[in-house]
Amino acid sequence: MTFHLKNYQSQLAQLVALPSVSCGIPSWDMPNLPVIELLANWFNDAGFKTQIIPLAQSGKANLIATLGSGDGGLVLAGHSDTVPYDANRWQSDPFKLEEKDGKLFGLGATDMKGFFPVIMAAVEPFLNAPLKHPLIILATADEESSMSGARALADSGKPNARYAVIGEPTELVPIRMHKGIMMEAIRIRGHAGHSSNPALGKSALDAMNQVMNELIILRNDLQLKYRNPGFAVQTPTLNLGCIHGGDGANRICGECELHFDLRLLPGMDNEELRTAIQNRLTPIAETSGTDIVFSSLFEGVEPFNEPAESELVKVCEALTGHASESVAFATEAPFMQQLGMQTVVLGPGSINQAHQPDEFISIDQLEPAVKIVQELIRKFCVN
Ligand SMILES: [Zn+2]
Repeated sequence: MTFHLKNYQSQLAQLVALPSVSCGIPSWDMPNLPVIELLANWFNDAGFKTQIIPLAQSGKANLIATLGSGDGGLVLAGHSDTVPYDANRWQSDPFKLEEKDGKLFGLGATDMKGFFPVIMAAVEPFLNAPLKHPLIILATADEESSMSGARALADSGKPNARYAVIGEPTELVPIRMHKGIMMEAIRIRGHAGHSSNPALGKSALDAMNQVMNELIILRNDLQLKYRNPGFAVQTPTLNLGCIHGGDGANRICGECELHFDLRLLPGMDNEELRTAIQNRLTPIAETSGTDIVFSSLFEGVEPFNEPAESELVKVCEALTGHASESVAFATEAPFMQQLGMQTVVLGPGSINQAHQPDEFISIDQLEPAVKIVQELIRKFCVN
C-alpha cells in the first residue's frame, strides 16, 4: 500500500476550510451542507452512488455513499460537524490546516473530519473490482449537539448493513462500550410574596431543596445497584449542574430551575429513569403546593454496548492488536445499533486533542488507519 500524505493533507485542508459548527446555542450553529456536498463530490467521482438527505433544519443534511450492492456489508461512519471554537486561543487559523512537528492542526482535524480522507485513501484499491457486499460511507449532521442526523437515519431505517465502524478518534483502539447521556431540567413554579409571612407565598426554593435531596438519594440508589468494571468511572453518575431562582433575600422565591445530567451504564434505560424521576417529583409537588415541570434539554443518547463476543469486535481486536475498551464520551453508536448493525467505534487521532484550541491529528496515526480500514473492507465487502 502506498499512502500519499500530500493527497490526505489537501483533502483534509478542504474539509477543515468549510466551517460546520453545530451547537445548541443558535448564534453558533451553522449549516453542514457545504461539507456534505464536498464529500458527495469526492465519493461520486470515485464511483459511489451518493444520496444527500436533508434534515428538517435548513442547511443540515446527512450523506449516504454506496459502492456495490447486495446484502450485508460495511458502514464507515463519521460526523461532519465540529464544536464551536475560540479563535483567540488558537496558535493558528482554526480553518487553515497547518502541518507542524508531525501533526496536522485544524478545527475538526481529529474529531473527526480527518477520518474521511482516510476512507478516501483506503477505498482506492477496491474501486475497480466488484464487491460482494456493499461498502457504505455515512456522514452525519449535528453529532456534537442534538445528534439529529443519526436520529433521522435510525428513524428512516437507513442504511442497511451488517457492520458499522464509527471513526471517532480512539487512537485506533476498538471501543465497544460507552455510557448514555441525558441532560434534564426541573422547573418549579411557586408563588412569590413578602418574606415576613410564609403564608403569603409558596417557596420554589424550598421545594427545589426537596427535589435535590430526592435526586441525591436516587443517585446513591443507582450507584449501589449498578456497577461496570469496564469503565474508568464504574457507576452511573448524576451531576447537579446549575440552578437559577429567586430575586431577593426578602422575597419568597416564586420560580426556580435546575439543570442536571445523567450518564447511565449499558443495561440501563434513559426513558425508565425519566419515569423514576417523575415518580419522585409528583409527591413533592403535592405537598409543597408548587408546580413542578420535568423536561429534557435534549433527547439524550442511550448507553452503548456491543457484546465482547460479537464478530465485529473480534475482527477489530485482531486487526488492531488491542483488546476492546470503553470510552467516557457518547457517540452515534446506539443509533447504528438501532439500525440492526454490529457496531464498533474505532478511528485515528486522539480524543485528548478534541474540543479544544490547537486541535490536531498525528500523522503517524494515518497510514495504520488506512490499513485497518482496508482490512475491514476486504473482510466484510470482498470475501
Ligand atoms: Zn466526534
